[in-house]
Amino acid sequence: MKKIGGITQSLGLHPNERTLFPANMVLPSEGIGRSKDWSEPRIIFLYQLNSNVCPYIDDNNSCLIYKKRPTICSSFPLLARPPYGAFIAGADDCNFVKEIESKLGLLDDVIITKKNFKGSIELKAAQQNMKKLFDTFLRYPLDAKNYWRFDLTTKQWEIEFTKT
Ligand code: SF4
Repeated sequence: MKKIGGITQSLGLHPNERTLFPANMVLPSEGIGRSKDWSEPRIIFLYQLNSNVCPYIDDNNSCLIYKKRPTICSSFPLLARPPYGAFIAGADDCNFVKEIESKLGLLDDVIITKKNFKGSIELKAAQQNMKKLFDTFLRYPLDAKNYWRFDLTTKQWEIEFTKT
């Protein structure tokens, strides 16, 4: 779980990945558009795990659903930032990234490509993730003018931006 722009968020799940987890562990995460009373988005395109610890990690730090794990897990340590590309996750998410950054400096502005990253599975998953997210914005251009995040601490939707 981490703070993004003051809002607490957790492992991101596409709508079709929600059912991988018990329903009571999943909450909305990001949405676009707006309800009539402006209290919530019209379309939820990303959900999140409502837990600091994933229920599928075993005592050996292995994933119990490895073959069908969510795309965001397959892409780690890469994260999709549509429409810009794939980036290395923040060092506070990963000791491996922390170690590399201690030698090379901050990597959060480096766009990841086949040339500068050898993990083809992770890169492919990050690109799939990016496409899914970006497609939502393209499919609903008017709704995309209003962008929301759901805060796990307050259990409230917060509007991130509104474009006129
Ligand atoms: S890789 Fe597996 S154990 Fe790790 S967060 Fe994803 S689903 Fe959970």
